[in-house]
Amino acid sequence: MSSQIILPRIMQVGAQASLAVPDILAGMGCSRALIVTDNVMVKLGYVANITKVLEQKSTTVDVYFDVFSDTVPEPTVASIQAGVEMAGAGDYDCIIALGGGSSIDSAKAISILAKYGGEMRDYRFPRIVNEPGLPVIAIPTTAGTGSEATRVTIITDQTSDEKMLCMGAGFMPVAALVDYTLTISVPARTTADTGIDALTHAIEAYVSKKANAYSDTQAIAAMKLIAPNLRKVYHNGEDQQARKQMMLGSTLAGIAFSNASVALVHGMSRPIGAFFHVPHGLSNAMLLPGVTEYSVPAAPGRYADCARAMGIASPGDSDQQANEQLLTELKALNNELSVPTPAQFGIDKHEFFSVCQTMAEQALASGSPGNNPRVPSAGELVSMYQALWD
Ligand code: NAD
Repeated sequence: MSSQIILPRIMQVGAQASLAVPDILAGMGCSRALIVTDNVMVKLGYVANITKVLEQKSTTVDVYFDVFSDTVPEPTVASIQAGVEMAGAGDYDCIIALGGGSSIDSAKAISILAKYGGEMRDYRFPRIVNEPGLPVIAIPTTAGTGSEATRVTIITDQTSDEKMLCMGAGFMPVAALVDYTLTISVPARTTADTGIDALTHAIEAYVSKKANAYSDTQAIAAMKLIAPNLRKVYHNGEDQQARKQMMLGSTLAGIAFSNASVALVHGMSRPIGAFFHVPHGLSNAMLLPGVTEYSVPAAPGRYADCARAMGIASPGDSDQQANEQLLTELKALNNELSVPTPAQFGIDKHEFFSVCQTMAEQALASGSPGNNPRVPSAGELVSMYQALWD
């Protein structure tokens, strides 16, 4: 049996990789770019850094660009609308996505909607979107989602509070410029949330029913990079070496899950994000220890491999010992990274319990829980949501 692997066509990795954007455009034969980003990137001067190198180059290759800087965290159909209109009205031949997963996901959705029209809902899973949109050059500024190297975008329908999972080669950026120096400015809370997101991608890709030999190598490499460095970047955001490892780890974790799948943590996490506006990585973090405990009995060898790759179990430990250490570590990590409980985050318990059934149904409909080594029923999912309050 073979596995299909889909990757960006070009990856530029390392310090200042983002400044290679003019050469990347030239190599793609593109010269009219829409930069899709957010206001934080404008304020940090990151947009200016990109436009400056484009202007310098434009004396020889005449690069034209505009900026759409109104993307928002956890993007919605409404939040991308102005970007879709701008991309559709202009004569652009590519999109430069600069920012965290939210800006990159917004750019991917804009790239498809501007070219083919319709509603975002038309493109959600189980439809597979393989048709190419405007080519996207992705420049991530968080070490988290891996969206720069995934065939996925996630857009919330604000009318139904549903985080719509959209998949297919059409959402894979053509180029990914992976420049860890852009992550030095990420605040500690976001560093923790995005870092746990990346770790979750690697673990879920490895235990997924869709795991394959290729995704396994990427997932294990990602865990080796992320696990020893996540606490370091949380406590000291200036640690260049740790930021570098986290950034590469995040991209590899994205490649791993994009070519396997995510599983139960992500399936349960999206509805919490949509209903209660919890940042994606944070809702993953709330769920990761409990879901891992539930899932370990169905794939003890796989989870033990994760513990060993993360450096928290030694090769001589039995699978059972390694899994006990994994569960202890995931809880300790949440404590050290000050991951709040739903109550501490400010969610109303009564409100949460009133939507558990709907969240369970949305989670199952997304398809992600079906990839988990142990697949819960809707009733079990409701109990797992409620257990977050124990
Ligand atoms: P984000 O993009 O929402 O960013 C969080 C906050 O951090 C924003 O306010 C942003 O402006 C700020 N920020 C980003 N980079 C910064 C920097 N370098 N310095 C200072 N501040 C910075 O966070 P995220 O976790 O990267 O993305 C989350 C989104 O990605 C969610 O919508 C989630 O559903 C989605 N996601 C997508 C995929 C995929 O494969 N497409 C995978 C996982 C998650």
